[in-house]
Amino acid sequence: MNRTPWGYAADNGPACWASLDPGYRLCGCGTEQSPVDLVDARKAQLPPLRFDYGPTRAAIEDTGATVQFNPAPGRGLVIGRHRHELRQFHFHHASEHLVDGTRWPMELHLVHTDSKGGLAVVGVFIGEGEVNAAVEILWQALVDDPESLDHIDVDLAALLPATTKAWRYRGSLTTPPCSEGVSWIVLADILPLSARQIAAFTNYRPANCRPAQALGGRVLTIG
Ligand SMILES: [Zn+2]
Repeated sequence: MNRTPWGYAADNGPACWASLDPGYRLCGCGTEQSPVDLVDARKAQLPPLRFDYGPTRAAIEDTGATVQFNPAPGRGLVIGRHRHELRQFHFHHASEHLVDGTRWPMELHLVHTDSKGGLAVVGVFIGEGEVNAAVEILWQALVDDPESLDHIDVDLAALLPATTKAWRYRGSLTTPPCSEGVSWIVLADILPLSARQIAAFTNYRPANCRPAQALGGRVLTIG
């Protein structure tokens, strides 16, 4: 059952979001929207990323658009010296960001907030490879009623690729209300999942990705 008025179908998909609710107007008229095609990035010395990830207990929430995992407090991301708490993570099929026009099979979004409510979202591209044991635990939630399963215990470090090289830019939430001012960090390395693991999510949510938005005058960096 879809609990949200917006979705990804012809009558409620990305092209319609702005007209579904006045609060979603940025989805149509925003100038710093996400996702984008990651191309022609400027190489830069950027504040280092330190993931304070590890084992956590996460509640499971069916948002309609995806299955979302809400970890217990205490895990986060330090950008330079600036700490952000991990609030939730979820998956898209196919990837929302593109790399020079190419889409990956899936994308993981790790959503963080700082003490002032500023949003930093880490995107991780997922490609086909070895089975991922942590995702095997997460996928227990891909059932008709995910909330029938109360929580899962998972090692968040297993959801990150080997290095922290990343594209960075200022963007938005990729779902309504498409709020702007989001610090986007899209990791350059891929997280492998097995073909069966990718297929399991694809069967659960056949398409939940927003098309690429214009970069406009924004600066895209990589480092
Ligand atoms: Zn997302």
